[in-house]
Amino acid sequence: MKFLCVDCDQQMSFGERQLPGDGTLAATFKCPKCGRVVAMLTNPMETQLVSSLGVEIGGRTVPAQPLENVRKMVATGREDAFEDGKRETGHVQWSPDAQERLGRVPNFVRGMVKRIYADYARERGIAEITPAIMDTARAELGLEGM
Ligand SMILES: [Zn+2]
Repeated sequence: MKFLCVDCDQQMSFGERQLPGDGTLAATFKCPKCGRVVAMLTNPMETQLVSSLGVEIGGRTVPAQPLENVRKMVATGREDAFEDGKRETGHVQWSPDAQERLGRVPNFVRGMVKRIYADYARERGIAEITPAIMDTARAELGLEGM
């Protein structure tokens, strides 16, 4: 995971990272050219998603923590899950709006995010995922930002 300063087209350098132990992760990145600093803050579930994917933050992989369900999802959440999702997600359909919104999810988590929404819809007998369904699922599952 890297951050780019859009103004300078410079890769931002890792500043500091905190793992307070409650699963929250905070990392800062600084642009070496203009000095702009951005911070990334994730909630425990998001931290776990990132950890499980083995994404290196600041040059070191965040230690994995036990959260078996998420890890299982991640283990099967491949990049191509979007393409072969029909087979794996049964009859759940995605509205064009929902597909467009899913398309804005970063590549490295898209398959997994799609699976989370598809599972959510299937469990509730929802035939088509729409942006409204995504909002509801996100609120219920605590997936702010996805
Ligand atoms: Zn800059």
